[in-house]
Amino acid sequence: MRRWWFGIATALLTFAGCAAPADRDVLYQTSTINALLEGLYDGHVALAELLRHGDFGIGTFDALDGEMLVLDGCVYQVRADGRVYRPGPEAATPFATVTFFDADRTLTLDGTLDLAELEALLDQAAPARNVPVAVRITGTFAQVKTRSVPRQSRPYPRLVDVTARQPTFEFKGVAGTIVGFRLPEFFKGLNVTGWHLHFLTSDRTGGGHVLEVETEKARADLDETPSVFIALPRGGEFGKADLSKDRDAEVRRVEK
Ligand SMILES: [Zn+2]
Repeated sequence: MRRWWFGIATALLTFAGCAAPADRDVLYQTSTINALLEGLYDGHVALAELLRHGDFGIGTFDALDGEMLVLDGCVYQVRADGRVYRPGPEAATPFATVTFFDADRTLTLDGTLDLAELEALLDQAAPARNVPVAVRITGTFAQVKTRSVPRQSRPYPRLVDVTARQPTFEFKGVAGTIVGFRLPEFFKGLNVTGWHLHFLTSDRTGGGHVLEVETEKARADLDETPSVFIALPRGGEFGKADLSKDRDAEVRRVEK
């Protein structure tokens, strides 16, 4: 009898006072890259909600209004004018990927590395190709070339047609942070596979989607995120969109 009561008391204590901490190694994304390619730019997740799922990540905004970075729990919006804005919690995103960043591994990057060399070095440090990995690179860069995308209005054009006229920005001898992910090949259709990086200057005045890089002196932190959660938009437009085609060639075009 006594043992029985002890069992119930233990169960109640466990339930009432000792909830397991949330798993921080979850990659949380809203919608899919193929939906974005099709021109589904309506924000469906508010930034307040997005930040409940991560303090670090990348994405875009309602109506494709610029490039998003999430860094240390703050959301930055690099708009097509090249300036950095701080949208409020009610602003929404059609497509974003975040996680809670806890570095598993740190790499010192000495000397000049271009984007291909940088990615090769990061691949060596994170050899598990089938697990999503977040990367944060902080330091000085001899050069960074970025782009942003201009806000669109309905009827929304397809993403390839928007990025064909994208404004680009060049930074030389600049301090800043690169935020991004490497996603496995089997994410095709869901997100950008391989490396996808965004940049923010340390004075928070410029940045964007990274096109070219030349590192100077930097440090890279890597965080594997083996769990994945995808929040799909509710409603007819997403439900009816044709997301069956292989859009990989288009993804490569809009990322470059
Ligand atoms: Zn991007």
